[in-house]
Formats: sequence, structure tokens, C-alpha cells
Amino acid sequence: MSEEIRDKILRLALQNALDHGKTQDKIVLGKILGTEPSLRTQVKEIMPTIIEIVNSVNQMSQDQVKRQIQDKFPDLLVEKPKKQEEREGLPPLEGAEQGKVVTRFPPEPNGYPHIGHAKAAIIDEEYAKMYGGKLILRFDDTNPEAERLEYYAAIKVGLDWLEVKYDRTKNTSDDIELLYKKCQEMLDGNFAYVCTCKQETISANRREMKPCKCSMGEMNQNMERWDKMFSKFKQGEAIVRFRGNMSSENTVMRDPVMFRIIETKHPLLGDKYRVWPSYDFAVAIEDSIDGVTHAFRTKEYELRNELYYTILDLLKMRKPKVMEFSRLGFEGMPVSKRILRPLIEEGKVTGYDDPRLPTLEALKRRGIRQDAIRKFVLSLGFTKADTLAPFETLESFNRKAVDPESIRLHMVKNPVPITVRDLPSSIITMPNHPTKDMGKRTVELDGSFYLELEDIEKLKPGDAIRFMGLGNVKITSQSPAEGQYIGDDLGTDIPKVHWVSHKDAQKIKILIPSQL
Ligand code: ATP
Ligand code: MG
Repeated sequence: MSEEIRDKILRLALQNALDHGKTQDKIVLGKILGTEPSLRTQVKEIMPTIIEIVNSVNQMSQDQVKRQIQDKFPDLLVEKPKKQEEREGLPPLEGAEQGKVVTRFPPEPNGYPHIGHAKAAIIDEEYAKMYGGKLILRFDDTNPEAERLEYYAAIKVGLDWLEVKYDRTKNTSDDIELLYKKCQEMLDGNFAYVCTCKQETISANRREMKPCKCSMGEMNQNMERWDKMFSKFKQGEAIVRFRGNMSSENTVMRDPVMFRIIETKHPLLGDKYRVWPSYDFAVAIEDSIDGVTHAFRTKEYELRNELYYTILDLLKMRKPKVMEFSRLGFEGMPVSKRILRPLIEEGKVTGYDDPRLPTLEALKRRGIRQDAIRKFVLSLGFTKADTLAPFETLESFNRKAVDPESIRLHMVKNPVPITVRDLPSSIITMPNHPTKDMGKRTVELDGSFYLELEDIEKLKPGDAIRFMGLGNVKITSQSPAEGQYIGDDLGTDIPKVHWVSHKDAQKIKILIPSQL
């Protein structure tokens, strides 16, 4: 064996030991054959050297391993530049001051939380953390028709699972009286008016950029009508509208709704109130009084910024900085409560945790971990560019999180029985993890095994396959499948297969989510 090959083996063994604490002869063999394909025919000759080197490396402490590497292969210690995908963290926040940043996550309790909420909440939390600031969880609950008590709870459960920690929690509905006062101020300043037109008229005027006749009424008329909204008017008969500009290019500014009557019971306040602020009015006032410095929302709200800032200017209130990021979606998966809710309620899916859905409950059920979601979200960064990520990207973050902590078992899909003659022993031990020390398990063998249908189908008598961790088997008959044990010789290009011993086989059912 040449010195050069010895050195290469040592290098691989040390590197493997540095990465994983210990190394293994089979791993080093695999690696050396990967870099030196010409050695494939000499496995028998190099194996003793590999075993000797692996044994000596495994006797070293982690420090000794490092010192050896420093001496002999210093290039291994040079930090490799991280791949784009692994880049972590968010860009600095415009206008942020240490200790003074306040962000908020403002879900409407009208559905189960999903990966889109995870993105928003994680970004809100990360920025608060980055600047030693605070995160407020604020339920934006001013539309009793859509909101239910169970969703407040579900959203909290979801945030707990994500390990998103907030400093304070509140509801927009807590401030309903204050919101009325702010509306009164708007009416007093003649910045708003009460409109009693029919919905069709309102829409037509908006389309045709025509001012509403109600906007020309006396201030008194507005006061009287505002009072009547709390008693006489019924739902749909009157709304408060912001006095915007009916010919604005920005359709949001064409006298948008500020308050409307909703007679449905509120999940927290019952029928105590019937006049409810619109999202646009509530969000601006709430962000301002809550001390929010940076208010993030998804890109489709961008046109609403003009209204947000104008309301606060007119009321002479402090203005947070509003910033947008892209909505997160997955190919073939609806990431929006509006679409998810009917799917669940109409029974098109089995429930809110149906594994085809992007709800947090479904992702959890699917085996996705919260730390993987966080890494995934941060890898997407803070951009306005549409993020339609393939689900596989999340899965790949998840695999990285799960891999070092999971024991490996063999599994065969569509099992087909096979009998194998001449096994050298009736029991073997197998490591639970290829590189980490996670213990070993014993597997009893009686010659009856299961292989995967797909693996069996490819074989014909005379072929050899490698039962992973056990040895090589020559196929003697295909149906019924039979084989003969022919030793543990590695190195040739024998296809490797998973197998399950009949004696300790466990039947499992696996749900494989398809696209909705
Ligand atoms: P939905 O269509 O799911 O009801 P929404 O924006 O009305 O969406 P909210 O509960 O009001 O849902 O949202 C709370 C926060 O989560 C908001 O800041 C919103 O911008 C953000 N958010 C919601 N869906 C997504 C998504 N798909 N990607 C990124 N952020 C999202
Ligand atoms: Mg909403």
C-alpha cells in the first residue's frame, strides 16, 4: 500500500472523526472509493489498513484528532463558505434603535395558524430579539362574523409550538371604546362621514370615481347617524367612511370603510357591541397606541399604507414604520385561512390537521419540526419577491434537524417474503445510527425476510444483492423468492437493499400526503 493512499485514508478518517466524534471503517471505505474509484478492485487489500487507521483514530480524544489535523491536513480546518441556502438571519432593520424596537404579530382569530403565520410571527420575533425589543401578540378581532374562541386558542398553541415568545398579549376588541373615540375625532374633524347608501351604489361610485352624496351632508347629519348606528340602524344600513379621494389612483383611498354594523355575537364580548372598526382603521390606531415601531405585513397590503399613514396624520398620532414582505406559499398548497377554512368546514379534507394542509397542526403531524420551520423561514429572508417555495425545501431543513437525533430502522414498502439459506448466525447486532453513538439493537434471523416489491422485481436468479448490514445474498429463485447467503464481502457494485426479518417485523401504516 502506497504512503499516498495511507495518507488519504488517514485524512478521511480524521475528518470523519472530527465531524462525528467517531469514525467507522465502512464509512471511510465508502469515502475513499468515492474519491479513488481505481481502488474498487482492491477492497480486500486496503481494508486491513482502513481498519487499523480507524481503530487508532477512534482511540484519540477530540483534541488529539484536531491536533493531528492541524499537523498533517491544516486545509481541513479552513472554514468553507456557507452555501446560500444555509445563510441565516435577517438584514438590519431600517431606523431600528437598540432596546426600542416594538413589533407585533396581529392574527385574526378566524382560522387555524399556518406556515404563513409562522413566517410573520418568526420575523416579528427575530427582529424584536435582534434589537432587544418587544413583541406583542395582538388578536385582530373586529369581525365577529368570522371569529371564534377556538381560534384564539389555536393560534396560541401554534405559537407555543413554534417557540415564538411574545412579551405581551392583547385584543383589538379590548380597545373598542377607544376606537369609538378616535372615530368621533375623525367625524369632529370632518375627516369621515356616515354613509347610508346601498352597497351597489357605493361600489358603482367607487368604480366611476364619483363622490358619494352622503359625503356632502352637514356635520350634524353625521353625528346623528353615528348615534343611530348604535341603536336604530340595522346591519348594512349605515357605515362610517373615511373622507378620502374618490378619484384617487389608489382605489383604497376612495372613501374606505372605517366602521360597520355587525350584529353577530363577538366571541369575547358577546352582543355588548354592534359597531365594529374595519381592519384599516383598527390596525393604524392599534399599532400607534401599542408603541409599535416596525409593523410588518404582507405585500398585498402595500396599497393600504397611504390610508394607514393619513389616518394617523389626521389624528396627530405617532406613526410606526410599515414594511412589507412577501406572502409565503407552497406549490399546490393553499396558504391562506380564507381558502383553508371552507376546505375544512366542507369536509374536503379530514380536518385542520390533514397532512396535505400547511397548517401548523398538519405540519407537526407530518413530522416537521419547529426548529426546521424557523430555519426555513429565515433562509427566505425579508423580501418582497414572491415566495412560492417547493415543499421539499422545508423538508430538507427538516431532514437536517431530524437526522442526527433519529435512530435508523429498516423499512420495506409493499413487502414480499424471501427465504435465505446458509445464514452464518441466527442473531446480529446493528448500530442504530451510522455515525452517531445511539446504541445497537439485536435482530433475530430465521431465514425468513421481507424485501420491497420494487427491489425484488428487478432481480433474476443468479443476481447478488446486499442486505444492508447483514451481507450478500445470491438469488436462487424469483417466485417464490429464495436466496443463498454468500458472505460479507463489500466493495463490488452489489445493489443494497433494506430488509426486515420476519421474526421481528412490525406492520406499519404510512400516510403519504399528495397534493390537494
Ligand atoms: P389569511 O388569508 O390566512 O386569512 P391574513 O393576512 O388575513 O391571511 P391574518 O391572521 O390577518 O391573516 O395574518 C396575521 C399576520 O400573518 C399578518 O401580518 C399577515 O400579513 C401574516 N400572514 C398571513 N398569511 C401569510 C402568508 N401566507 N405568508 C406570510 N405572512 C402571512
Ligand atoms: Mg386577515
